[in-house]
Parts: sequence; structure tokens; C-alpha cells
Amino acid sequence: MIGNVLVGVRTRQWAAWCLGLLACITAPIAAAADCPGHPDALGTSRTLVVDPKAHPRIGTMQYAETLPLRDHEVVLTFDDGPLPHNSNQILEILASQCVKATFFTVGRMARDYPEGVRKLREAGHSIGTHTQNHPLGFDKFSVERAKPEIDDGIASVTAALGDGGGLDPFFRMPGLRRAPAVEDYLASLGIQIWSADFLADDWRHVPASRVYELAMKRLEAKGKGILLLHDIQARTVAALPRILHELKARGYRIVHVVPATQEQPAAPSEPPQWQLHPPSETVAISHWPKIPNFVFAGAGTLPAPSLSDSGWHDGQLVPLAEPFDRGSRRARGVPLPRQAPWPRQSPLALGNAAIALPVPAQSVFEIQEKPRAATQAVTPSSRRAERTLTREADGPANLVSAEAGASRRTTPGRLNLRGARQAGAAQMAARGTRLAAGVGRGLLRR
Ligand SMILES: [Zn+2]
Repeated sequence: MIGNVLVGVRTRQWAAWCLGLLACITAPIAAAADCPGHPDALGTSRTLVVDPKAHPRIGTMQYAETLPLRDHEVVLTFDDGPLPHNSNQILEILASQCVKATFFTVGRMARDYPEGVRKLREAGHSIGTHTQNHPLGFDKFSVERAKPEIDDGIASVTAALGDGGGLDPFFRMPGLRRAPAVEDYLASLGIQIWSADFLADDWRHVPASRVYELAMKRLEAKGKGILLLHDIQARTVAALPRILHELKARGYRIVHVVPATQEQPAAPSEPPQWQLHPPSETVAISHWPKIPNFVFAGAGTLPAPSLSDSGWHDGQLVPLAEPFDRGSRRARGVPLPRQAPWPRQSPLALGNAAIALPVPAQSVFEIQEKPRAATQAVTPSSRRAERTLTREADGPANLVSAEAGASRRTTPGRLNLRGARQAGAAQMAARGTRLAAGVGRGLLRR
């Protein structure tokens, strides 16, 4: 693929450059000049290789983890295509800026317009799936009902791609309607579920200018992340050039995400990198010193107090061997034991001391409200985000009533996806045949 070749060239150049600089510790950032004929293009700054099995659910709108992006890095995603006119325009805009994105294609759309899926592959974009018919209320689906939607969607997109492969183990829930059992099923297939870090409401009846404003405003609020857009929407086509221009102007960089393969292992990362804002940056509590461990030296040598130390009746205590059965004691004429043999607390003679003491300042009892744990902050906002998504009706309405009768087809495994792009079409076809595996037998497993 052109994109991978470019990345390979960039990596070699960077490695050579790094040899002369001991302080070179960060990955390369491609210059916009890498986009032939478009010297001012936004470009794609780097390719991020991820392991779907190690991080099966990403996107802070719904999950604890998101892609390990650096500040000002953005991943563009487009759902619901391909739709000939609008999706092709989206592809042209992205190509003009040499931007690589991830597309979550609908099986039925791929079946109706397979050429649109192949165009994604030819342009070097990543390709995930988004069910066969984009049903509403996917979170209410049982696994048995969700499986054919997922499997048929994968089969349709795979069929559209043909022997060349190119489907990546990425999936997005229609309307972001998730259900734990469905998530588990996708994880069993080795497929990574992509939520998002922010939306631009481009499926709603808003002008393109509003899509642009929301995209930039929400990106600025988070500083980085996965943006969810729809390549089937005309307003998205209208807003995208301005969004890309503004990303460039404000110093944002595009990251292209691909799944790990045997030839291309996942980039090493640490767990905190998979959080949008690691707790160490924002949680004040993490900076409090720990309670010191006290050392009790010689505790065993202290003498046990003798009863006479209490100074109560010369140490004469009521023997406790007999149970405190007051009723039977009374019946037998046995005197009741005294009340607890401890000296009573005498009221303190305060005198005028209270008047002399200063009244505590009100500030002493102030409760600090600002510092909140980041984990607490994420959860409510995530729930709010999910609630707003209940209205997400992305995708054409006619998809909902579509039949789910697509036959299951054999599908090349993920191994041949990226590898084949590098190895050539002939090798690809051979490996695709060899690695063909049914949906229910570990589709896309690496
Ligand atoms: Zn959708």
C-alpha cells in the first residue's frame, strides 16, 4: 500500500537521522510535503499499530481505554458507507490532504456498492465493519440475534473486497449501542470494538458549519482522540475540508491505525497511554504521601498493669467466672455484681475556659470540592455521552428493515490483510485461499 510504503520510507529516514542524535526519543512526524502535489496538506503523521486482543474496547465515550495517542493527535473514523456519491467525495477530500482514516462499513451498503469498499482499500484506509443492516436498538439484541448481524456484515464486506482482502478486525456498534454479551462475542473473534472520544453530530439535521464547530470544539476540549463522522452525509462532505484545514492550522496531527500482524507487531505501549488523561496528570489524591509505617520498638517488654493501679477498692473486683444472669441471681438471693468496675468520668470543671477559647474559623470546616478523582469524572460523563447517543440514528432508515439473508461466505484471515498488501496480489490470493476460515471458526483471528 502506498501509505505503508510511505511510512516505511519515513521510518528509515528517521532511523538514519536518529543515529546522529542521541536525544532522539520520539517517533517521526511526517512533513506535509510527503503529500505529492499538495505541499500544504495536513498529511498523516504516523501509523499506529495496535493489538485488538490486548485492547478489545476503545473510545472514552463508553470505555476506560482509548487509543494511545499523544497530545494533538487525531484519528478520523467514518461510519455507515459506502454510499457512492458522498463516500467518493469524502475519499477525494482525504486524498487531497493525504489523510488516512478508518471506515466502519455497513454490510448491506458494501453488498450494494462493493466498488466503494475496494476504493477504501486502494486508498490505504483501514476498514472495519458496522453490522449487516445497521439495526436500531442493538443494545437490546440477544447474542443469538446479534451474531448474524455481525457475521453477515463481515461476510458482505469481505466479499466486496474479494481475494485481495483488506478487512481489519475493527467493529463499531450501530448507534454505539453496546451490550456486554455482544462485546464478549466480538472479543472472542479477536475483533476490537471502537467507540469514539467525541462526535460532531453530523447525522443530525444541522448545517455543515455546526458539524465543523462541534468537531473542533469537542476536540479542543479533549486535546486528542477518535472523531466519529459519517461518510454518507452530505453535511459531512461539506464540513470536512474546513475541519482538515483547521486541524492543520491548530497544530493537530492525523494518526492512521492498523491492526498488528505477524509481520508488523503492535507498537509497545504502557497501560496509562491507553487512557485519554492518565490519572497522574489530574488526580490530586495520587500525590498525597502514604501514611508512614510506625515501628513499635520493645512493645513486648512493657509491664502489664496491675489491678491495684486502678485505685478502685484496693483491687477487689467482682469475679467474672459466674455468668451475668441477673434473673437467676435474684431468684437465688445472690447479690448482683456492681456496675462495670471502671471509674466514672467526672465532668470537667470548665469554669470560664470556654469563653476564653477562640471560636474556630469557618474556613476550618470548608470542604474542598474541586479535586475529584479522574476515574469518578470519567464515569458520569461517559454515561451522559451514552445517553445522548440513544438518539443517534446514524445510517439510512431503510437499512433497518433490510433483510438479513446474506449467505455466510468464507473469509480470509487477518494475517493476509496487511501482509498481502505488501506481498502482492498474487501471493495475497494464494494466502487468502489457504487461510480462509468460516465466520464461526475464528474469523479475523490472527
Ligand atoms: Zn452507524
